[in-house]
Amino acid sequence: MEISSLGEFGLIKHLTEKTTIKNSSTLKGIGDDAAVLSYKDKEALVTTDILLEGIHFDLTYVPLKHLGYKSAVVNFSDIYAMNGQPRQITVALGISKRFSVEDLEDFYAGLQLACEIYGVDLVGGDTSASLTGLCIGITCIGEASGDRIVYRNKAKNTDLIYVSGDLGAAYMGLQLLEREKAVFAGEKDFTPDFAGKEYLLERQLKPEARKDVVHILEENGILPTSMIDVSDGLSSELLHICTESGVGCRIYEERIPIDYQTALMAEQFNMNLTTAALNGGEDYELLFTVPLSLHEKMERIDAVKLIGNICDAAEGTNLIARDGTEIALVAQGWNSLERTNS
Ligand code: ADP
Ligand code: MG
Repeated sequence: MEISSLGEFGLIKHLTEKTTIKNSSTLKGIGDDAAVLSYKDKEALVTTDILLEGIHFDLTYVPLKHLGYKSAVVNFSDIYAMNGQPRQITVALGISKRFSVEDLEDFYAGLQLACEIYGVDLVGGDTSASLTGLCIGITCIGEASGDRIVYRNKAKNTDLIYVSGDLGAAYMGLQLLEREKAVFAGEKDFTPDFAGKEYLLERQLKPEARKDVVHILEENGILPTSMIDVSDGLSSELLHICTESGVGCRIYEERIPIDYQTALMAEQFNMNLTTAALNGGEDYELLFTVPLSLHEKMERIDAVKLIGNICDAAEGTNLIARDGTEIALVAQGWNSLERTNS
């Protein structure tokens, strides 16, 4: 169905008519000039991310439903990284002529599924035509008690550094999809065999935010001293924490959590596995520090792994390789990751 047959208002109504409100902090959602929210005795957290076709995603291999899901989840991840709970999102869309009503239904199905799973209300947005593809801007509002918000700048010398889940898989998933895209270029039926690589694809196409980790830490009475979500790669995020906090760090190569499928893929692509895990990005895991005194308590939490410790700024920000050599961490970001053999 052509979008023009519904018109802008008809389209918004069509896409959002099944939207229900889950949170008491949402006083008014879609349907007026602005949403109305109430954060009594709480702090409100606000974060925005944009996703542009051709820059952040490639619709050749990203299904629109997954894109909707991921667009929402990456915003939730930023709120969890502040030790908060996401409550509302607004969605701004620029849509080129190429898209049909059904395409947008798929996108909204993913968006609404994420909202359902994470308990977030869709409370508004904006819709416009675009000349150059799909543009998505999502703003997420969350809540936290003032005394439980965790910033990037409060890591202290001797704190322990933890990370949830495993790293590098989303990056490997992207490499895999890009390779298959090149191989299948021009062919109509794009059905490559991804058997045994499902985890990598899932991590790239349908990431999750670590709501569970925030919950487990709270349940165990642990308040991190600093926290950040891993969107641009472990190196880059750790350097953010160290720079903002005025400290140094030491992490151990052998402790970086990596999934078996990630390791296998790195070998097939002849890539350095540690480099991929350090700089891959889009993992949406939580990286945080806790005081040394909480070490024993932390040992009981399976979802996170101890990867190193904070030290004095004068000692630098280093990775201790398996052979004991110290390598200075660099914020490469995932775009500049290079193959070891090229
Ligand atoms: P305005 O003219 O005030 O910008 P709109 O006609 O753009 O209002 O929007 C009407 C209502 O629909 C508002 O509540 C707005 O937040 C909501 N809305 C617009 N676009 C979207 C969208 N893409 N997704 C969800 N809600 C939307
Ligand atoms: Mg508008």
